[in-house]
Amino acid sequence: MIRDAVEAVVNAIISEKDYLSQLDAKIGDGDHGANMAQGAKSAVEALEELSDEELNDLQKVLHAVGEAVVMNVGGSAGPLYGAGILEAAKVVDENSSLDIATLEKMFGAAVSAIQRRGHAQKGDKTMLDVLIPIHECFTPENSAGKNLEEVLVLAVDAAKDGVEYTKTIAAKRGRASYLGDRSIGFEDPGAVSSLIIYRTLCNYWKG
Ligand SMILES: [Mg+2]
Repeated sequence: MIRDAVEAVVNAIISEKDYLSQLDAKIGDGDHGANMAQGAKSAVEALEELSDEELNDLQKVLHAVGEAVVMNVGGSAGPLYGAGILEAAKVVDENSSLDIATLEKMFGAAVSAIQRRGHAQKGDKTMLDVLIPIHECFTPENSAGKNLEEVLVLAVDAAKDGVEYTKTIAAKRGRASYLGDRSIGFEDPGAVSSLIIYRTLCNYWKG
């Protein structure tokens, strides 16, 4: 059930709250864990407003979660994640099944929305350094000849590599960009939260 997937992500975020804030404290203002936990709680509350029928509708669930995240999460992460989730909601309907093609469209829509909203690209040391490589695993060129489980697992590796990559580069967006080269050596907290979210969804889908 879709609600179980959302709850799995919420629990993962809440359990990593302090870790995410510690990462953010090194190159930012230390609020990423608290902001993400707030968003996670607001997503659960938003789902409580939906009927059982609506809870089985992926588009309605994503829309409700996206709106809750936009409205309730502080810092830059809320509007960015929210915009991504709301755009992903637009590319699915009641006939969508979570196959490689649908996930490619959803991640593609989310990445585009986050790029537009944050004016960031790959290499800026942001969540996009994880989300773009995840999306690339699902494209027809890269997923040809693979089944869904193989692509899901490859994308976890790509997400982990993305987090490692953010350690090697200087921040170009957000508060961390004020540090310039002194931000090198630290992973981007948004990249880490994107890895946590994706890895949790992946485990859920595989199970
Ligand atoms: Mg922060």
